[in-house]
Amino acid sequence: KLVDQKDMKDVGADWKKGEPVPYAGLCKTFEAIESTTKRLEIQEYLTSFFKHTIELSPGNLLETLYLCLNRVCPEYENVELGIGESLLIKAIAEVTGRTTQKVKNELAKVGDLGKVARDSKNSQKSISSMFGNRDKLLTVPKVFNSMKKIASLTGHSSQDLKIKEIQNLLISCRDEEPKFLTRSLEGKLRIGLAEQTVLICLAQAFVMTDKEYEKLAKAKKTEELNNAIKTIKSVYSELPSYDKIVPALLKGGIKNLREHCKLTPGIPLKPMLAHPTKSITDVLDSVEGHKFTCEFKYDGERGQIHRLEDGTTKIFSRNLEDNTVKYPDIIERISKAAKTNTKSYVLDCEVVAWDLEKHILLPFQVLSTRKRKDVKEAEIKVSVCLFAFDLLYLNGESLLKKSLEERRKLMNDSFQEIEDEFSFVQNINATNIEEIQSYLDESIKANCEGLMVKILDGLESTYEPSKRSRNWLKLKKDYLSGVGDSLDLVVVGAFYGRGKRTNVYGAFLLACYDPEHEEYQTICKIGTGFSDSDLETHFNYLKEKETSEPKSYFNYDKGTKPDVWFEPCQVWEVKAADLSISPIYKAAIGQISEASKGVSLRFPRFIRIREDKKPEDATTSEQVINIIC
Ligand code: ATP
Repeated sequence: KLVDQKDMKDVGADWKKGEPVPYAGLCKTFEAIESTTKRLEIQEYLTSFFKHTIELSPGNLLETLYLCLNRVCPEYENVELGIGESLLIKAIAEVTGRTTQKVKNELAKVGDLGKVARDSKNSQKSISSMFGNRDKLLTVPKVFNSMKKIASLTGHSSQDLKIKEIQNLLISCRDEEPKFLTRSLEGKLRIGLAEQTVLICLAQAFVMTDKEYEKLAKAKKTEELNNAIKTIKSVYSELPSYDKIVPALLKGGIKNLREHCKLTPGIPLKPMLAHPTKSITDVLDSVEGHKFTCEFKYDGERGQIHRLEDGTTKIFSRNLEDNTVKYPDIIERISKAAKTNTKSYVLDCEVVAWDLEKHILLPFQVLSTRKRKDVKEAEIKVSVCLFAFDLLYLNGESLLKKSLEERRKLMNDSFQEIEDEFSFVQNINATNIEEIQSYLDESIKANCEGLMVKILDGLESTYEPSKRSRNWLKLKKDYLSGVGDSLDLVVVGAFYGRGKRTNVYGAFLLACYDPEHEEYQTICKIGTGFSDSDLETHFNYLKEKETSEPKSYFNYDKGTKPDVWFEPCQVWEVKAADLSISPIYKAAIGQISEASKGVSLRFPRFIRIREDKKPEDATTSEQVINIIC
């Protein structure tokens, strides 16, 4: 079953050592992955392909990996690859000699532009053979470099140049290649390949290509593989850059990876996240036997501040987006807050809107009105105060493995508070329900969202990048009734308004994200919580995102079909009175007792747009299950 060298010949890609990786081989692997839902089989296919790449064309491993992840650079560089549907339709129509209307009709029937491209291409053999380079095989570096070029094109004539580049690729495509190429260009590969799986396969491939591996006994082999997977996952959460990891792997293998790839100022790490709780007793049960601290949970925006050895300062969002230009005021003041011996560091903070006259915190809604680009310090209207809660790196050393108590001490010793500008988070070391309750009340009075309860000492209190950890618990004021947490959902469709709402959308279809199946699963229709100006804003933004058909990766029921569909593009925070089992909504489908039913929200209410979350950072189906259970 494995995609081995023989299979590569089957697809006409005679892959010889030292030659570029044939794109046909990668597509054959994608095809095999798409044909199964079994995790182990998926891993076998991809591990095998990575093994061949390491052995035959190691110089192309990075590009191969990026194509598997549908990216052209590290995630934190935030390069959008998604190319508009209409542009792709135009390119496909021109290459296959069809009208755009014909391609659109096919798309309406099939629902997957990738399949439309493949079928159009393969039924047009005579026309495609008119193009001279039909016989030239596509290679992984060629596809990758074209995609990178397309992503970088901006400005006036970029649309035409993009179409040309896409056409060049499509002309050289054959068999299954147009399908995967089109999907990649659209921004969604849709083969059920999660990033965690790619990491596992990369680790396995490196272990298996080691000459000593074959000589090991079976149990030892399993141990080696498991250790390698653990290493690569932990390294990636600290340093989410394949540009750094792949060369290090090729040079020193997995055993030396930790030594070469560590948390590095300038490269944002995936932030540690908190676990929701429903009551104070819940909290006390979780932290029993540990020393813990209660901190105010400020209602602002996360800011990960990096100071590099060369004196540069950068600030990244929860989403690893570079927010440096948004906060020139922070960049300026952080140098004053850092003591003289504090040279390089990574500081985890919350940026909160601040009333300079009354010296009080302002709600998130005020912060959200702040400009994002081209911010000049003199023109800033919304002042912010910075609340630091963790120190992750100091003067050349990673602090991730130290306890929170130690990290906090180092933070307090390395920075100083500046009135109205920089402060450490307010905290107490509470021990019982009464103390926590009164501190929660105090935090709400101070305009905070509630408390963060964190374990202070021992192994449980290390910083866990990218984890939603039970060692950080969030206790919000309205946890104590109804659904514990709000949900962050993607708007996938809308219904035209009536009466007062005639000129805008009146209600919307929302979805959660299922990373395992790479799909958006509908969860509710929402029409409450919007002011008139909200509806106007949503209409103006979303009308540009309408698509002729629902995406093939939307899981919905015909009974909930909206009037218009959207590209997944925006995340909304929503509160609900409760969750219920539903025959027509698809959230967490197959994961609850009644296999054919999903979960829906009762009385959903719009709270705000989550600018700091991408659609794929929306509440997952697993989180929905956790709320229910
Ligand atoms: P998610 O939905 O992924 O959990 P979120 O962005 O909705 O995350 P919450 O879970 O509500 O946020 O809370 C975690 C966020 O709270 C952090 O990302 C941070 O921005 C903010 N925060 C405020 N105060 C603190 C604090 N004292 N310690 C840690 N985080 C804090």
